Amino acid sequence: MKERPLSGIRFEGEEIFELTLRPKKLEDFVGQKNIIENLKVFIHAAKKRKEPLEHILLFGPPGLGKTTLAHIIAHEMDVNIYPTSGPILERPFDLAGILSNLKYGDIIFIDEIHRINRVVEEYLYPALEDFHLDIMQDKGMGAQSLRLKLERFTLIGATTRSGLLTSPLRSRFGMSFRLDYYPPEELEQIIRRSAKILKIKITKEAGLEIARRSRGTPRVANRLLRRVRDFAQVQNKDTIDLEICEYALKRLDVDKRGLDEMDKKILRTIIEKFQGGPVGINSLAVAVGEDAQTIEEVFEPFLIMEGFIKRTPRGREVTPLAYEHLNIKPDHGPLFR
Ligand code: ADP
Repeated sequence: MKERPLSGIRFEGEEIFELTLRPKKLEDFVGQKNIIENLKVFIHAAKKRKEPLEHILLFGPPGLGKTTLAHIIAHEMDVNIYPTSGPILERPFDLAGILSNLKYGDIIFIDEIHRINRVVEEYLYPALEDFHLDIMQDKGMGAQSLRLKLERFTLIGATTRSGLLTSPLRSRFGMSFRLDYYPPEELEQIIRRSAKILKIKITKEAGLEIARRSRGTPRVANRLLRRVRDFAQVQNKDTIDLEICEYALKRLDVDKRGLDEMDKKILRTIIEKFQGGPVGINSLAVAVGEDAQTIEEVFEPFLIMEGFIKRTPRGREVTPLAYEHLNIKPDHGPLFR
């Protein structure tokens, strides 16, 4: 995968850092207040009834804490969690292998659940609803179906692309939560906590500066913190202050507002090729060479939230802020005609 320092998409090998920085308990999870408050109630109620949680769907852009939350839920419920992902579950056999090992109340976490293949998905339905699997033995005339009873378990599914889930799968989740981008104050708290774990001091202003440039995403905030830490250490500084932070972020070519290369390409393309818009999502996708759904679900929500793009019935339009940020003269486009 191409390295995109500012998108929330995980780099290869980044898991090790993430494991150390990942909060383990609900009280250490910063932000997403509504989700956390609701989850507390559902967890409390399920524990009181001594029952497993209903299946949970977590969705939202990459790096916002879906995997972290799944592990925290397992910790709070005091059960085992078995992480896997949609593309790994290639055959029904792979799914059966995990499900048949689950004990009462255990959690299977399926990341990128929208990428699960249809055959495996069909096997999942009865497992989710009635806790059994019908395994076909042999093929053709002599085929026999073997019913495998499962313990009651909880599926936590995570996806960046909730629009791609089939409706039968979606309807089997008892709860679904959408994670949102984090405001700078919350990201600063996450950065402070991570700095403590990484054993480096950081001033409040420096933490906020990194937070503002992190695309609303904890994964990006932690990544930038680790890189700024390198600059501080090379300069023998034991504290990350605003000065070293600004120097490092400049050297790293990190945008003041946290925009990623693709974010900027999207804005620039709307301005230069579509006169500022409006432009339909499919034409935009072809022009920037990215898949339409990824633009809609990964890039666009952040650009809309930050006020660089607006959605109109006729398509996407950039705002004056986009021209200003990219330092492009607004001499064309519907906004200025
Ligand atoms: P996702 O599964 O949504 O892609 P992750 O759960 O892997 O995201 O989170 C990426 C990293 O960001 C984790 O290592 C974790 O340390 C950090 N993180 C995410 N959300 C939070 C949060 N709310 N509080 C503290 N750290 C967080």
